[in-house]
Amino acid sequence: MRVYFDYNATTPMHAESVEAVARVSRDIFGNASSVHHFGQQAKAVLDEARSAAAMLVGGDPSEIVFTSGGTEADNFALRGAAEALEPTGRRHLVTSAIEHEAVLNTLKALARRGWETTLVPVDQTGVVSPEHVAEAVTDRTALVSVMHANNEIGTIQPVAQLAAVAHARGALFHTDAVQSAGKLPIDVRTLGVDLLAISAHKFNGPKGAGALWIKRGTRMLALLTGGKHERNRRAGTENVPAIAGLGVAARLAAVMLTSPGTEAARLTALRNRLEDDILRLVPGTAVNGARGARVPNTTNISFDRVEAESLLIALDLEGIAVSTGSACSSGTLEPSHVLRAMGFNAHRTQNSLRFSLGLFSTEAEVDRVVATLPRLVEKLRGLTQKVGSRPA
Ligand code: PLP
Repeated sequence: MRVYFDYNATTPMHAESVEAVARVSRDIFGNASSVHHFGQQAKAVLDEARSAAAMLVGGDPSEIVFTSGGTEADNFALRGAAEALEPTGRRHLVTSAIEHEAVLNTLKALARRGWETTLVPVDQTGVVSPEHVAEAVTDRTALVSVMHANNEIGTIQPVAQLAAVAHARGALFHTDAVQSAGKLPIDVRTLGVDLLAISAHKFNGPKGAGALWIKRGTRMLALLTGGKHERNRRAGTENVPAIAGLGVAARLAAVMLTSPGTEAARLTALRNRLEDDILRLVPGTAVNGARGARVPNTTNISFDRVEAESLLIALDLEGIAVSTGSACSSGTLEPSHVLRAMGFNAHRTQNSLRFSLGLFSTEAEVDRVVATLPRLVEKLRGLTQKVGSRPA
């Protein structure tokens, strides 16, 4: 039995979503901008998916702009708002030190073009405090961007409070909700944000489809210029099949989040058992980040005296897939910027593994990991000791 505990990297698709992608690819090939029947069929698919995406985040369908995924949605949020606000003299951007690279590297790119930028620190629990954001924001701040849930440790940020801090100084607020959409109920009005990014492949939809929710009336410059697609906000013929798959996944996720005896409760119980058993059975382990305010599916655990990359490979050889951090930076052997920002030492930033569960995760899979992990950790620690005790 292979175990996939890397749902934060990407998720297997819902059968219904696969079916929607296949059906639309096969039967509805029109260009959604065409006025004829074939075009209108494609437009109807977009309309339905737009309603579903809006329902998932609590917005209006007219406020949804489809993108190629979370990275593009984040780029659009930052670059689109920054460029629109440039003439007002607001040339400062604020974000947190634990954002995804889609935000951090976009900020760096804007900094190279003369934008002033501030990275707000986090505490050891991985939470961005409203006080720290208040210290960073000035009357020259155009936009504050803080993620809803962190991809590596799962901590949920106090977005509503942070948005209020930004608004008090006249700045816009963007949240990267790529890791919370489908895992937590989201209501853009309650959160009080202006922009919110989601990505279908993180909630059992297809890759290459995402959306940016843009509050009505928000000034934004288009990221891609060309035709008049997406109300002049994102030029380019829409990827209708992938967007159909996004719509189906969004609808299923929205229904799941509002059903009693939810999937979230099941995942929380599974994750907690995995975490408790690892902490109990493997000495020298600790959870990274706050255990309270987290998405239900994620745990990030440090293993003292173990190289996380070696443990990841040993687990993979046993058929268990986990991660050392974000999929974008895994394989680089770079220490996690999230754990570093939380103030952990070099060893801890390199001995931590992320376990992220999801829709198809089972009790049997948790049992399998719990039965395998202690042996592997012991073996790796033994090897390290032998190497360490060899005469120089
Ligand atoms: N933001 C966060 C928090 C993520 O975890 C990811 C993906 O790992 C992204 C953005 C990028 O999304 P996509 O893979 O759809 O480009």
